[in-house]
Amino acid sequence: MQFLDSLNAAQRKAVLHDPQTPLQILAGPGSGKTKVLTSRIAYLILEHGIPPSSLCAVTFTNKAANEMRERLSKLIGKQKTAEVRMGTFHALCALFLRKFSKVVGIEGNFTICDTEESKKVISGLLKRHKEFLSSSDITLKEGTVLSLISKAKSKSMSAKDFIAEHSKPSTSNFDPEEEVQRIVGTIYGEYEKSLRRSNSLDFDDLLLYGVRLFSEHSPATNWCMHVLVDEFQDTNVTQYELMRAIALPTNGCVTVVGDPDQSIYGWRSAEVGNLARMRKDFVSSQQILLEENYRSTAAILKASLAIVSQDKSRIQKTLLTSNPSGTVPVLRSFPTEHAEAEFIAVEIKRIVASMGGVLRWGDFAILLRFSALSRAIESALQKEAIPSIVLGGHKFFERLEIKDLLSYLQLVDNPDFTPALTRAIGVPPRGIGEKSVQALVSRAELTKKSVLGVIELIYDAKQPDVKPAVKSKIGSFVKTVRVLRKLASEGTSPADLVRRLLDLIEYETHLKKTQPEWESRWENVQELITFASDIDNDGSSVAPEVESGVKDTPLRLFLQASMLSSEGDKQSEEDSKEKVTISTCHAAKGLEWPVVMIPAVEQGTFPFYRTDDVPEERRLLYVACTRAQSLLYLSHASKRKVGGETKTKEISEFVAAATKEHPGIFTARTSQFPHTERTVISKVLDRPEAKEAEVTRRMTEFRRTTRHEDTSERNEVSWHPALAVAGVTRKTNTSTFVASS
Ligand code: ATP
Ligand code: MG
Repeated sequence: MQFLDSLNAAQRKAVLHDPQTPLQILAGPGSGKTKVLTSRIAYLILEHGIPPSSLCAVTFTNKAANEMRERLSKLIGKQKTAEVRMGTFHALCALFLRKFSKVVGIEGNFTICDTEESKKVISGLLKRHKEFLSSSDITLKEGTVLSLISKAKSKSMSAKDFIAEHSKPSTSNFDPEEEVQRIVGTIYGEYEKSLRRSNSLDFDDLLLYGVRLFSEHSPATNWCMHVLVDEFQDTNVTQYELMRAIALPTNGCVTVVGDPDQSIYGWRSAEVGNLARMRKDFVSSQQILLEENYRSTAAILKASLAIVSQDKSRIQKTLLTSNPSGTVPVLRSFPTEHAEAEFIAVEIKRIVASMGGVLRWGDFAILLRFSALSRAIESALQKEAIPSIVLGGHKFFERLEIKDLLSYLQLVDNPDFTPALTRAIGVPPRGIGEKSVQALVSRAELTKKSVLGVIELIYDAKQPDVKPAVKSKIGSFVKTVRVLRKLASEGTSPADLVRRLLDLIEYETHLKKTQPEWESRWENVQELITFASDIDNDGSSVAPEVESGVKDTPLRLFLQASMLSSEGDKQSEEDSKEKVTISTCHAAKGLEWPVVMIPAVEQGTFPFYRTDDVPEERRLLYVACTRAQSLLYLSHASKRKVGGETKTKEISEFVAAATKEHPGIFTARTSQFPHTERTVISKVLDRPEAKEAEVTRRMTEFRRTTRHEDTSERNEVSWHPALAVAGVTRKTNTSTFVASS
């Protein structure tokens, strides 16, 4: 097992740790937690003979799962890797629930209901309470109700529990707050009923039913012999319970890795207390700490730690690096957001040009507190002709054209899924108004049929009371669904189903008629077909088979992958190498780039003006800074347009406090790269095309063609772990920076 040689002593200890003693690996960013987790999976398979299909590895995003698969393939090969049950908690639950749905009382062809569909259901339910709401002057939006329901669900609280918790002894006074909770509780109950009637589960349900499946169904306990969880600090109560339900029957074969300093999902009910809870539930559990950061230069680490250590209640930790000191992170102020965006674009161009092609667009990330900040940045990049890709922004699968098409396919897969029907019936518009649709829904509820069933009955003339005009309106809809259903039952691939659907509903013409930017939407449609054919070719990577004998249909695998996808999953590796990444800080978790730029480091943004958890906002900035390997830029604009209004902005208190306590951790001067040209390049040395000789040649070329001061030894390339690959040994003159806060 040669891969053990690439680990340091603490990492090796963690990988070799007795599989039956529960293990927590706690460590700072870039210390190799994910690397250790991957190596441990390989070790458990190769040394302990655990069948790959008996390992459950939980990652925070699908993108992270794909990356882990890639890393693992290098250690144990593609075939074994494909068998490992790897994915987010949601994906794993979906996988097992499909196979064993009956056990928890649901149908195997359940549809995963996404946020937009959930909101639609809630909006319908809110209408039922319209009179009361307007008479009592209470405003309730579907988003608010959904997030309250979701919060309750993530704490495993049922509608009944919710109502009980919020019903105080009645007083004669009207308490609007109490009324809101009461209505939300009622809607919560109705929402649940509606989802069950539609044979669908929302994201929270996937976890709740997963817990039920694993804790109540004894064969389920044999499915997993070891469970491993990455980013454990961001698990919520339900996810913890799920982990426990899977892990308890394994007699403690569980490994989790996490970093309390990077807990950034408190707003989504994550409980950093799960670490302590695990130690109580698994009394024999042990902790291993990793203290060496391999990702960033010492200067980046120093600035990042100066920020996070402003939280005086934080548990002190050591994080050191043997990486070179590198360039001092840049902190710049600009008069407006446009000047800031322009600087970022021009600076990226300058760095790429001065690195003689060693750095590519894909080595840059611009990390934002929230995605609305990307507008100015995107247009500045466009102006400089820099290609970019937005990660975690407006999600591909939430786009109008994609939802239109998926709604038909969802309906073919699950005729009970009302949200899909109410959308599909209006694409293209067939003159069936909202009222008529609501009447159909009510009729379905009354007759205990699916809405599609009711519509088909009307079409087949088995409902004499329906007007002929209505019948003819639904004609094309029923025919389309029937053709697709037949094709799907004959095993037609999802890509071909989409193609056929486009013809049947003349979707291109519909887009041209209704959408000004129909061309880019049509491109997305083509992208959907590509995604569908990828899934078709490689269905196993999305949802490996469980040995129950029931095979998922290609259509169901495709729909599931779409529902559980995020923008990052669709981004091909090639794409990301060729484009600057624009991402929210949240979506950047666990990832790394040679150059990271964080604009809008301002009050109101960091911390976000609506937050009630300032320390979490500080940790978020820390997470963003620690994504950087070699160059880090923070910037702020004195004036920024927010919601159509120009506001004066102060620099973020996090940065102000850090620089006050540790002057010199940032500089306003952009470097001509006397240090970074070496460290940055060394970072990319593990790429086959950037071998040492090539790098040296490009550096020499760069020095010849540019005038800049470099007082360091000209021919020396600083040591970096990546250099070991090229056979370069460690130099003694690298600085070691030890920070304890
Ligand atoms: P985060 O907290 O941000 O998720 P992490 O602790 O999971 O970070 P990894 O992503 O596993 O860290 O590793 C960070 C980088 O350091 C990766 O590029 C990884 O390959 C490298 N790395 C980790 N351990 C070593 C090592 N022992 N030798 C060389 N490189 C290493
Ligand atoms: Mg990680």
